[in-house]
Amino acid sequence: MRGKDTLVNCDQCGRSVPRTKAVAYEKRISFGTEMHNANDIRFLTSRKIYYCISCAKHRGIFEKKKEQAERAAHRFD
Ligand SMILES: [Zn+2]
Repeated sequence: MRGKDTLVNCDQCGRSVPRTKAVAYEKRISFGTEMHNANDIRFLTSRKIYYCISCAKHRGIFEKKKEQAERAAHRFD
């Protein structure tokens, strides 16, 4: 067992929850310059966010996580 439990904030309700009890979710974000020429640069990034159990249930994150896990089985340890 690990000695300490890191607190994270739920992205939905802002509540502090221990990381071990939070649900991690990888959110994909893309940025574009909206210039339709050679200078149109697109950025794709992903940010890891956390939900508390109740928000995760409410938003169906468990179902989404299942889909993600099937697509990329080794991305969540
Ligand atoms: Zn929450």
